[in-house]
Amino acid sequence: MRSYTLIAPAKINLYLEIIGDRPDGYHELVMILQSIDLADKISVRAISEQIIRVHCNHPQVPTDKTNLVYRAAELMTKQFPEAAAKHGGVEITLEKNIPVAAGLAGGSTNAAAVLVGIDLLWNLGLTQTEIEELGAILGSDIPFCVAGGTAIATGRGEQLAPLPSLDHIYIVLAKYRSLEVSTPWAYKTYRQEFGHTYLKNTEDLAARAAAVHSGEIVKAIVHKDATEIAQKLHNDLERVVLPAYSQVMQLRELFATQPGVLGTMMSGSGPSVFAIVESEAQAQAVKQYIRKAIPDEDLELFVTRTITHGIQIASSI
Ligand code: ATP
Repeated sequence: MRSYTLIAPAKINLYLEIIGDRPDGYHELVMILQSIDLADKISVRAISEQIIRVHCNHPQVPTDKTNLVYRAAELMTKQFPEAAAKHGGVEITLEKNIPVAAGLAGGSTNAAAVLVGIDLLWNLGLTQTEIEELGAILGSDIPFCVAGGTAIATGRGEQLAPLPSLDHIYIVLAKYRSLEVSTPWAYKTYRQEFGHTYLKNTEDLAARAAAVHSGEIVKAIVHKDATEIAQKLHNDLERVVLPAYSQVMQLRELFATQPGVLGTMMSGSGPSVFAIVESEAQAQAVKQYIRKAIPDEDLELFVTRTITHGIQIASSI
């Protein structure tokens, strides 16, 4: 039976602005998403039984139908019933390295990998756009995770415009293992507190979303200017998450005072916090400092860097 092993990188948000409500209940967002080299490894194998089976090495990650990879495989089976009947079931093995429920799109990138893997396994020959469209059915972050790199994401986050890629910008990432922030809670609380500032009409929303293309942070990305990018980081959700989660606030404050840190921000709805750092050596020094300042084993720390790609094939048998 054939199998593919794929690398599925996490993302951080360099920018997240909430600009309005959508008729479907989601928010209108303007985001800049960035892939990082912290990644999960996923293998997708054809099996003779007509079932979807999921294995995972992480205790916090379910292996039943609630796992996004299960739902991705189920979607492929529904969309391509003939190929599913011909090739059999799918066994998916997840090796998690990306912290779970962290605002790093861990589940989304796993689902993107499964879409890419099954496309290969069943010789479907789907285009990148077709895979992204399938991903959008399952979750707003999945389309970005397919090709990754650096991109502006609008709408629910599923409408993508690629930006020049940012390679080798060093990042220190921190996440308390047992701390989770519910994404629906963060958006609901933001609506309660700041809903009165939302843009209401379609033209204003479209104009605001378009304005990001000529915004300061995009200019900094085009110039590959890490210092400027770090100074223009933005995340509206910090306004509700930081006051409610003192540990996240403390990490933000600690990062901001470190030599070599160019800028720091929470990613997505948190609770992970990242810092853009001048060099790999400084990133290691910042990581060591934070470890000493917060000697709590629950705190996970990573030195990582920006990368220019999303899902990659590691091997095939
Ligand atoms: P996003 O940034 O897209 O909001 P996240 O990084 O905050 O995502 P995930 O790591 O995707 O969050 O996990 C959110 C929840 O989804 C977890 O509590 C977990 O139980 C569940 N989950 C389902 N499938 C997966 C998966 N493949 N990997 C991790 N978590 C998963």
